[in-house]
Amino acid sequence: MEIAVYPNPVLRTKAKPIEYIDNEICRIAGEMLDTLYDACGVGLAAPQVGLSIRLVVLDITGEKTGERVFINPHIIEERGEIMEEEGCLSFPDVRGKIIRSQYVKVTAYNLKGEQLEIETEGLLSRAWQHEIDHLNGCLFIDKMTPASTIANKPKLKELELSYQNNKAGVS
Ligand code: ZN
Repeated sequence: MEIAVYPNPVLRTKAKPIEYIDNEICRIAGEMLDTLYDACGVGLAAPQVGLSIRLVVLDITGEKTGERVFINPHIIEERGEIMEEEGCLSFPDVRGKIIRSQYVKVTAYNLKGEQLEIETEGLLSRAWQHEIDHLNGCLFIDKMTPASTIANKPKLKELELSYQNNKAGVS
């Protein structure tokens, strides 16, 4: 799968809930995991591969075990605040500081249709908030500190220009 890069409009589209977990969803989830490992990322949301559905893959350890596919996730509890630097596979070479909740509790379904409740802190909590934002068309550049926003301006301009050129067939 190809990763959608900013400013591809699919990244700004609110994703639709998944109503049935069928073979197609399982296939998409598998391909998204492959794409995640190829890109050496920790998380990937379906809009990042051009699909406007509420599906996220996450593997913070990269160990390829445990629950890694999450359907219709949402945050039901959050607390604390912590500022850390983060990046995004849809924004090559962009990194910025963002304040996020220190702890979040998430509910989601796995591929078997079982409901999960996940409590997370630290890096995993940050990844969860980042990926769920993607499902709502919210991007990490929207939440960066003013200093990081200024620092990344030239890089974002560059990405915008290259997207326009690709669309126009110029390389
Ligand atoms: Zn991202």
